[in-house]
Amino acid sequence: MKEKLTVLINLQKIETEKDAIQKALVVIPEKSDALDAEIAEFEKKLTDETAVLDEVKKKYRSHELEVRENLSKIAKSKERLNAIKTNKEYQAMLKEIEDIETKNAEIEDVMMGYLEQIETKEKYVAAVRKEGLQIRDRITKEKEKLRKEQLEGGKKLSKFESEIESLSKKADPGMLYKYRKVKDRVFGAVIVPVSNAVCGGCNMNIPMQLYNELYRFDSLRFCPFCYRMIYVEVEKD
Ligand SMILES: [Zn+2]
Repeated sequence: MKEKLTVLINLQKIETEKDAIQKALVVIPEKSDALDAEIAEFEKKLTDETAVLDEVKKKYRSHELEVRENLSKIAKSKERLNAIKTNKEYQAMLKEIEDIETKNAEIEDVMMGYLEQIETKEKYVAAVRKEGLQIRDRITKEKEKLRKEQLEGGKKLSKFESEIESLSKKADPGMLYKYRKVKDRVFGAVIVPVSNAVCGGCNMNIPMQLYNELYRFDSLRFCPFCYRMIYVEVEKD
């Protein structure tokens, strides 16, 4: 009976390890997806910030063009000044030139503001890009680690599965059947040690008579409270 119990205890140990590996493997794709999402979020931030920068640069260029057009208007007007006959027309033309110059000065003020924005934004985008290199590097490493975990986990899993198969063949068929039945009903361990008459599964005190019977190792016994398979650990001589 002791040997038969040992087979079941070993089986349980390996099944527990297999469950833990399976649980760890299940979350690997989720972890990998989370890393992909982190990269995507970062790429979006970089794209958005670059778009804002490009927009300001575009506005700056369009104002720059307007200033140039105004300057050529002023140049033309100045040329025409020499051909003007009346003082009234002359004054009107001077006023027109002055108005365009005032407008250009206003546009140039706005352009100064844009230049400041461009400078600040360019620094920020450069910092984001630098941060991106670090993020990509970290995520590549983390994904590589996950890939290894998956590979190693898969190997362990098949090793445990073949061990479970051979232990299941070695186990007493009747005891294995009961073990499987209890496993379906309880959470956690199926076969638990009892020490000082306390069940290792539910921590309840089992009847003294049952406790003493466990030392006989003559048949399979169950906790009357949690229905787990119970045994006593005996010091080896
Ligand atoms: Zn119990």
